[in-house]
Amino acid sequence: MKADRATWTERESKFVTGLRCLRCGARYAPGAVEYVCSCRPNRGSDLGTLDVQYDYAAVARSVTPASLRADCDRSIGRFWPLLPIPHRDSLPPLPVGGTPLLAVPRLRAATGLANLWVKDDGRNPSASFKDRASAIAVARAQAERRPIVATASTGNAAAALAGQAAAAGQQTVIFVPKSAPPAKIAQLLVYGSTVLAVDGSYDDAFDLCTEACLEFGWYNRSTGYNPYMTEGKKTVSYEITLQLAEQSDGDAPMLAPDAVFVSVGDGCIIGGVHKGFKDLLALGWIERMPRIYGVQSALSPALYNAWRSGAELPTPVRAATRADSISVDAPRDAIKALAAVRESGGAYVLVEDAAILQAMLPLARFGAVFAEPAGAAAYAGLLQAWCDGLVHKDETVVVINTGSGLKDVRAAMEVTGDVRVIEPTLAAVRSTLDA
Ligand SMILES: *Cc1c(COP(=O)(O)O)cnc(C)c1O
Repeated sequence: MKADRATWTERESKFVTGLRCLRCGARYAPGAVEYVCSCRPNRGSDLGTLDVQYDYAAVARSVTPASLRADCDRSIGRFWPLLPIPHRDSLPPLPVGGTPLLAVPRLRAATGLANLWVKDDGRNPSASFKDRASAIAVARAQAERRPIVATASTGNAAAALAGQAAAAGQQTVIFVPKSAPPAKIAQLLVYGSTVLAVDGSYDDAFDLCTEACLEFGWYNRSTGYNPYMTEGKKTVSYEITLQLAEQSDGDAPMLAPDAVFVSVGDGCIIGGVHKGFKDLLALGWIERMPRIYGVQSALSPALYNAWRSGAELPTPVRAATRADSISVDAPRDAIKALAAVRESGGAYVLVEDAAILQAMLPLARFGAVFAEPAGAAAYAGLLQAWCDGLVHKDETVVVINTGSGLKDVRAAMEVTGDVRVIEPTLAAVRSTLDA
């Protein structure tokens, strides 16, 4: 259903001034375009990616760092003037965000990084970072009275959408590669989504979802295609700066870290991290842009390759990493993902799959954070960057865990080994301990 102009304005944020194409520079009024700019409506990485623009002066009249800190609502709803939704009540009734920023003393001792923090986004309602974006997708679909929301996903974006949709009473159709881990598919089925497991890669699922949405008029949440997903994801940067200030001795209501590490597949999360800090700089609420580090698997290196070679856009790869959430052939949010690293003075960091799986152990044993492989990849990237001299021991460094380890227990068991089975006798306990 298409909303007419008069009612549309009530459904749109009064702080959003429009959308700007990052490819050709075209500007659109709020609601004038749905997903990507007509300059590049094609498939793959070469999309007319849109950036949502705000009236920061109006935002600053509505919220301040102090009011955000004082807000009893710890969810992303407290940031509503900086979100593309009419009001905080537009969000589904399943709070997202407000995840802990952990001081991890034993991980600090183990690494020698005295100001290391872990932002644990595995502790969102559907156990991944993707809840931040899916809440916005459901809010917008409901504002536009769209009966069905669809997405392509490696698993987590879909699980997040399915959960938010269940809370709001919204129907969903999900396209996942049939190789998605069973826990993620189980989440979709339990939440009541219509699940289409595509006999192909994530990229195949993506293209099919795009076609189906055009054909059937469904609202498309797909990452890197729907410009509003970045806006949900950027809230992690607001939270990090507020939490660093809350946990420090100073008076500043917000504090930017020196460096942030996050794993990268399509590039939407890293683009969101960047957008969040850019908003805070534009508002004058932080003083500098942190260096942003994007971590990719050597078996899914499209954005790393583009960054290394100085290319404007990535060349597709044949992705095959065990970290399924970052296994992407043609990254859809490439423009934002490359700008995040280039404009912040960060880097792309490449890690082997073995290092990703191994990183799950120290993260859990010293940090008590059980991450899925794509989450642990960010920590593996930090270890690599630390070896390469990209971070200093006293710097404030934040590693974002993007997903819970319960999403993929098979990957965890690959590095822990199998459990020992014993006879129910004390003798068996004794001989096992002696062994
Ligand atoms: C989606 C996802 C990522 C990567 O995010 P992109 O926006 O695709 O770069 C990383 N980790 C987890 C757990 C994810 O679900």
